[in-house]
Amino acid sequence: MLLTLIAFPLVSEYRHFLLHCEYLVTELTLLRRNHTLSRPSEQRQLLEQSGKWPPFHEALHDHGLPDLKSCGVEVLQVNVGKVCNQTCSHCHVDAGPDRRESMSRETAEAVVRALRIANIPTLDITGGAPEMNPHFRFLVEEARKIGCRVIDRCNLTILMTPRYDELASFLATHRVEIVASLPCYLEDNCDRQRGDGVFRRSIDALRCLNQLGYGMPTAELPLTLVYNPVGPVLPSPQESLEADYRRELRDRYGVEFSQLYTITNMPISRYLDELVSSGSYDEYMTQLVTAFNPLTVSGVMCRTMLSVDWQGRLYDCDFNQMLELPIDAPSTPTIHDVDFAKIATRTIQTGRHCYGCTAAAGSSCQGSLTTAPPANRSR
Ligand code: SF4
Ligand code: SF4
Repeated sequence: MLLTLIAFPLVSEYRHFLLHCEYLVTELTLLRRNHTLSRPSEQRQLLEQSGKWPPFHEALHDHGLPDLKSCGVEVLQVNVGKVCNQTCSHCHVDAGPDRRESMSRETAEAVVRALRIANIPTLDITGGAPEMNPHFRFLVEEARKIGCRVIDRCNLTILMTPRYDELASFLATHRVEIVASLPCYLEDNCDRQRGDGVFRRSIDALRCLNQLGYGMPTAELPLTLVYNPVGPVLPSPQESLEADYRRELRDRYGVEFSQLYTITNMPISRYLDELVSSGSYDEYMTQLVTAFNPLTVSGVMCRTMLSVDWQGRLYDCDFNQMLELPIDAPSTPTIHDVDFAKIATRTIQTGRHCYGCTAAAGSSCQGSLTTAPPANRSR
């Protein structure tokens, strides 16, 4: 920090510097601010202590549904760390340039071993900015060698930083599917959530991906965009929003993409802080609980996913990972020693945050879960 102050005595100079290197915003993460909500236990307490909304399992039972159970592992979602070149306001990971958590080579090797032994068809790599992990390319190459489908959850701007200028070609060469965040096709809305300059760099990245064949009708390189609301509201219907994105991105920027996922913001970490500090927490939770849709429950992603953190610990999903709710297994195994047969039909750990996956049309890493019309929709 001292060095930063000497080199950049003015905040504006610092921001100018950041805009031209790999880091895009100056905000500190909750952890570096020593914020109460940087602690998962505090988040869990806030979510679970209130009697205003029924516990999630009660909502299931009220609709005649049993507790959530896993039905096998089709996707291994690996969160390789919390280091990121951005500090988006809604981030459920509390990721940013000031985080240091990053998966080791030894754990990355255990991930590849698990993919092979359990014959898991899909490796879904997330972060932070997963590409900033030094073993990202190892994971991709090894998973592709054993025939896995590989997904990179990419923030787009990382592709435009000089240090990663060959990354897009690497992803194309290895036929990696890209799922990329772009919360709006309007610059101001996008930058409000993700930081100054993010939208412009994202458009540059999308053009670069299109040139490599990503998102083009004739190529088999899928480029999925991810929308999440900028304010405390539920997403608009996925299908109509996809049509809006396609028209606006094509007309304004000549950008193509394969499909759009809408994802509901989860009341976790920085988004939880944003809700609390803006006085919208109660209203948002009430929206999620009121819009509970039993038709979404069979499709929630935790039923077919296993989530791995940067140290190899196991969770039912990335949200439970951030809340430090480990999988319900007698010896809480890690990716190094997991017995897949023993966790195949485990009971999923749920909490009130799960209303975020089951509200209205539902939400998952594969977008909405039904075509039911969402309540209180908005852009
Ligand atoms: S939302 Fe994604 S890009 Fe933004 S800070 Fe979090 S991990 Fe990084
Ligand atoms: S947050 Fe969603 S994916 Fe995670 S356990 Fe709850 S319902 Fe499942």
